Amino acid sequence: DEHLILEIRIVPYGQERKLLVARDVTRLHRLEVMRRDFVANITHELRTPLTVIQGVAETLSEQEEAGSEDFQRSLELIQEQSQRMSRLVDDLLLLSRLETGERKSAAVPVDVAAMLEALAVEASALSGGRHRIELDIDRDLKLHGDQTELRSAFSNLVVNAVKYTPADGRIVIRWFVDDDAVHMQVVDTGFGIPPHHLPRLTERFYRVDSGHNDATAGTGLGLTIVKHVLSRHDARLEIRSQLNKGSTFDCLFPVKLSARGLAASASPGT
Ligand code: ADP
Repeated sequence: DEHLILEIRIVPYGQERKLLVARDVTRLHRLEVMRRDFVANITHELRTPLTVIQGVAETLSEQEEAGSEDFQRSLELIQEQSQRMSRLVDDLLLLSRLETGERKSAAVPVDVAAMLEALAVEASALSGGRHRIELDIDRDLKLHGDQTELRSAFSNLVVNAVKYTPADGRIVIRWFVDDDAVHMQVVDTGFGIPPHHLPRLTERFYRVDSGHNDATAGTGLGLTIVKHVLSRHDARLEIRSQLNKGSTFDCLFPVKLSARGLAASASPGT
C-alpha cells in the first residue's frame, strides 16, 4: 500500500526547545518484509525435494542388492546429511513464523510441568543414559502462553544441555516462581561458554568455535528461536556460564502470566 512508515525522534534543541526528526523508513521496512517472505518461501520449497531424497535413500537401503559396505556407507551419509538439512529447514521455517506471525493472545494456561516431564524423558533417550537428568519442578504452576512455541524453546535448551555436557554430567530442569519472575531453568555441568561469546549466542547461526561443536550437528538457530519465543511472552533469557564447570539458561516470565490449580489447561504436547 501507499502508506509511509516514519521513524520519529525527539531531540533537544537549544535550552528550551525540542526538535522533531522524522526519517522515512518505508523502503527499509519493505526490504525487511521481502527478506522474511523470501526465507519463508525458500524453506518451504526446500522441504519437498528433501523429503524425496530421504524417501529414496530409505528405499535403496532396504533393497537386497544394496549389500556392499561402500554402498551402505554412502546411503548413510545421504540420510545423515539430509536429516541435518531437514532440521535446518524446520528451524528456519519456525523462525520465520515467529518473526512474521501474529502475536497470539496468551489465553490458555499451559501445563509446563507436564511438558518438562515429557522433555526430560526425550532428553534421557538422547543422552542414552550418559547423563543424570533431574527435575525440580512446581507441578501446580502453569503459564499463560503458546504451548507449541514454549515447547520448541524449552526443548532447544534441554537438548543443548545434553549436547554440550560430557558423559557423567548432571542436568537439572527447574520450574518455579519467586517474587520477581516465573523461571524455567536448565542447569548443566557441561563445557561452559567463554564469557565473550555470551552476548552473541542468540544471534542466527552463531556457534561457539570450539572442539565440542564439531561433534554435534547443530544449526546455530536454537537459541535464536528461544529468544523469539521468549520475547513473544514478554520474557527474557539470562545465561550464566563458567568454562568447564557448566551453564545455566534461565528464562524469566512475568509473574502475571502464571496460573495455579486445576483451571482449564492445555494438554502437554509431545
Ligand atoms: P546449536 O545448533 O549450535 O546448538 P544454538 O543456537 O542452540 O545452536 O546454540 C548456539 C551455541 O551456543 C552452540 O553452538 C554452543 O556453542 C553454545 N551452547 C548452547 N547451549 C550450551 C550449553 N548448555 N553449554 C555450552 N554451550 C552451549
